[in-house]
Amino acid sequence: MKHVRPGIPSKQAGPEALALGIEYARKGGYTKNAIFAGMSKIKKYIVDPETLIVEIQEERKHRGRKVLGVVLGGAALFFAYLWFYVSVLGLDLPKTAILKRRNADWTTRIERMSAQLDQYDEVLGLLSVRDDRIYRSVYGMDEIPQEVRGAGFGGVDRYAWLEGGPLKAIALRLDVMEKKAYVQSKSFDDVVAMARTAGDRASCIPAIPPMDTDPSTYRLSSPFGYRSDPITGFGKLHTGMDFACPPGNPVFVTGDGTVVKVAHDFYGYGNHVEIEHGYGYRTRYAHLSRIDVYEGQKVSRGDCLGLSGKSGRITGPHLHYEVMYRKDYVNPANFMDLDISAEDYAGMVRKPVRR
Ligand SMILES: [Zn+2]
Repeated sequence: MKHVRPGIPSKQAGPEALALGIEYARKGGYTKNAIFAGMSKIKKYIVDPETLIVEIQEERKHRGRKVLGVVLGGAALFFAYLWFYVSVLGLDLPKTAILKRRNADWTTRIERMSAQLDQYDEVLGLLSVRDDRIYRSVYGMDEIPQEVRGAGFGGVDRYAWLEGGPLKAIALRLDVMEKKAYVQSKSFDDVVAMARTAGDRASCIPAIPPMDTDPSTYRLSSPFGYRSDPITGFGKLHTGMDFACPPGNPVFVTGDGTVVKVAHDFYGYGNHVEIEHGYGYRTRYAHLSRIDVYEGQKVSRGDCLGLSGKSGRITGPHLHYEVMYRKDYVNPANFMDLDISAEDYAGMVRKPVRR
C-alpha cells in the first residue's frame, strides 16, 4: 500500500462519490505520480467509497522489486559465501575436490607403478650381473657391454603425445627394460647352448653357502658393502659376509678348486683358508678355529675345510666369507641361495672328518 491522499470530502459517500472520485483522479486531481500510477499496468489506485481516500497500490511492482531484491541479495550472499569458502577458508568447491581426489589417486597409482618398475629394474640388473660374472664367465664367454644391455631407443620421440610427465617417463623406462630383458634372454640362450658342450665347469663356481643354512645355527650379522668399521668406527668396505655362530660350526668349500693359502694369524683374518677356483674366482674363509685342509690340496664343493671360530680381529665369533672375481671383491650373496632347505644343503656337503 502506498501513500494516502484525501479525495473529495467524506460527506459525499456512495456510488456517486466513487464516480466523482474516479473522475477527479482522471482529471489530474492527484499527484502526477498517482495519475501515472493509475494508468500504469503495474500500479493501481483504489478509492474508498466512504472516505474517498485514494489508495494507490503498487503491489505488483513492489512484489517485482522485492523479488528482484531477494534474488540480488541472495546472489550477493551466495558469491560472498563462495568467496569466503574458497579464499578465506581455503576450501575447495565440491567439483574441484572430486578432481583433486582423482588426481591424487592417479598420482599414487603412477608412483606405485614407478616403484614396481624400480623393483623389476633391480631384478634385471641382478640377472645381468649373474649372467656376466657367473654364467658367461664360467664358459669363458665375454661379458655383454653395458652399452648393449642398457641401450635405449633413439630417433623419433614415440611418446610425444604423452607430453612429458610421469607417464612418458614410465613408457620410456618400459622400452629400455624390454630391450634389457631381450638381451638377457638371448644371453641365457647362448649360455645354455654353451653349457651343453662345456661339461662340468659350473662346479668350480662358489655357488653354495659356506655353512649350514638352518637359521637356528647361524645369523647373517653383517652383509657385504660399505659400513662403519665395528672396531675403528670409520666407513669402510666390508669385503665379505659374516655368518655369526658359536665356534665349531663346520665350514664347507663352496666350489671345486685348489687350496692356495692356509694361514694362522693372530690379527686380521686369523686362521684362514683361500681357495682358487679358476675362471677368475677365489674364496676366503676367515676367523676359523680349526683348519682341515693343506696348501696345494684339491678340494670339491661340499668338502669340509674346518670349523668356524673367533681367531683374528673380531668382535664376536663368526665366519667371514669372501668371494673375489678377477681380483675384485664381489657380493657373495649374489652367488648363493640362502633359502636352500637344510636337507638339500646336507645333500650337497660331506660331514667333517672327526679328529
Ligand atoms: Zn666380515
